[in-house]
Amino acid sequence: MRFSKGFFPTVKEVPSDAIIPSHQLMIRAGLIRPLGAGIFSFLPIGYAVMKNVMQIIREEMDAIGGQEFCLPALNPVELWEESDRVRSFGDTMFHVKNRALVLAPTHEEVITSIARNHIRSYKDLPQIWYQIQTKFRNEPRPKSGVLRGRQFNMKDSYSLDASQEGLDNSYDLHAEAYKKIYSRCGLHFFIVGASSGAMGGSGSQEFMVESEAGEDTVALCDSCHYAANVEVASSGVAPAIRTKESHAIEEIFTPNIKTIDQLAEFLKVGTDRCAKSLVYIGDGKPVLIFMMGNDQLNETKLRTALGTDARAAEPEELSSLTGADAGSIGPIGLKANFTIIADKRLEGANGLISGANKNDYHIRNIDFNRDVKIGSYYDLRTVEQGEPCLKCSKPLRIVKGIELGHIFKLGTKYSVSMKANFLDDQGKEQPIIMGSYGIGLERIIACFIEQHHDASGIIWSKSIAPYDIHLICVNANSETVVAKSEELYRMLTETHISVLYDDRTNVTPGFKFNDADLLGMPLQVIVGEKNLKNNQIELKERLTGKRWTVAVDQLVGEVKNRVFGS
Ligand code: ATP
Ligand code: MG
Repeated sequence: MRFSKGFFPTVKEVPSDAIIPSHQLMIRAGLIRPLGAGIFSFLPIGYAVMKNVMQIIREEMDAIGGQEFCLPALNPVELWEESDRVRSFGDTMFHVKNRALVLAPTHEEVITSIARNHIRSYKDLPQIWYQIQTKFRNEPRPKSGVLRGRQFNMKDSYSLDASQEGLDNSYDLHAEAYKKIYSRCGLHFFIVGASSGAMGGSGSQEFMVESEAGEDTVALCDSCHYAANVEVASSGVAPAIRTKESHAIEEIFTPNIKTIDQLAEFLKVGTDRCAKSLVYIGDGKPVLIFMMGNDQLNETKLRTALGTDARAAEPEELSSLTGADAGSIGPIGLKANFTIIADKRLEGANGLISGANKNDYHIRNIDFNRDVKIGSYYDLRTVEQGEPCLKCSKPLRIVKGIELGHIFKLGTKYSVSMKANFLDDQGKEQPIIMGSYGIGLERIIACFIEQHHDASGIIWSKSIAPYDIHLICVNANSETVVAKSEELYRMLTETHISVLYDDRTNVTPGFKFNDADLLGMPLQVIVGEKNLKNNQIELKERLTGKRWTVAVDQLVGEVKNRVFGS
């Protein structure tokens, strides 16, 4: 493609809402343009990258026996009522005004409706069905450019199996395919296991990249690759020590002491001797929770432990339930009946200090085995940076992550609610066992740029670059340079190398070099007057900035090696 004839609107300025590098660079390099909140046009150079990503995905999905569909984005709302997802998607689903239609945010329902009409017997299974198609989600906070759009492209696939082992196999095939897809695209990723109990499934994993732009917080071990969302992550942090002797409890005057740090400082003890108390209300009943020192309560873990939603008690509730304000609450002498639970770190601990349920007083020498009726100990704490990994004891890092893809054992959630059954080998009707697997294409592109850019622009990998090489005619006023550039453009194109050829006559060489670095093709071929006099052409590797020259007649061979070689 000739730069002079193509549409390459590179710009210096970016809109003020473009904060993260990928969003800025996708606009600056002319990959995308915003059309509305969370809505983007992909321009030719951006769509070229998208098509390369699609190709990689197709190859890997076909390699695991996937068959490509193209399902409609416009769906009858009744279909979504069958699975009760009009309700569960709520405002996230776009409804078409005056029509009983919705814009599909995903495609489990359509797939299940096809399956129930055509899958009859276990002999029709297994199946892997996929598509690459536009999804619509009315995200409440579209942000970070194409990372969270209201319209985006997803590769979604669905496995249909006759047995749990079949599902396990389809799931493993997808996990392997996903690893290949992300690796081929040139992404550094990690895998986070997550329990998906609430969704009726029996396993799920998220493929993520580390990025400041991420909305998930993940505990990551660089050594053994343990990775878990902080909502569920655990660490190997040491439990409280139980001393041999348990002394009698003793009330102490602690004027104006409100925080654990103040308390530890005032009593000259470690914060690990302090049992911090928190009051929550779950199902209308008060729950008293103990955490060690400054450990943070994790509300997701609390919800799992209690089996119900819970909220922090209001200040008025605190004093009426305990007789004291926050900061002086403890396990002894409570006014109301509490369910008392504690973090596992405090299991069986003694010599603890906690509030006396009397403002400005604390109690010391509390023995959790002797003085307190702890209902149960649970893992309730939020993991912190630097704590030892539960598996290998190396320090954990707490990082922000972006979800690139998700694989999920759905089980029979949709086949039961939508009655998609098959006859098993005993002739008995059974619900089809399903899996669902998604990859966001825009996220692959944006995350790639997050990981592969420098101050000058994007640095594409060979696998997804919009063009293999960027050919620059440096001196557009020199007849010999122009003639040689034209000749090389023709020869390279003939060898099936895709070339972006900067043939512009109205911009300076400096301008062309800047655009080449911004657009980020892996290899630049620079045809300039000086080198040409010595029968040489200059090459520049975008990633390293390394420059070298080759003889004119060796140029095509050298480029072919670079482009098609490993
Ligand atoms: P998130 O938690 O980020 O909202 P999700 O759990 O809703 O993601 P899935 O429903 O599992 O995502 O969709 C599969 C994939 O589609 C995601 O892994 C992600 O790559 C992509 N995706 C989801 N929502 C968006 C969006 N609003 N914009 C761009 N890509 C998206
Ligand atoms: Mg979402």
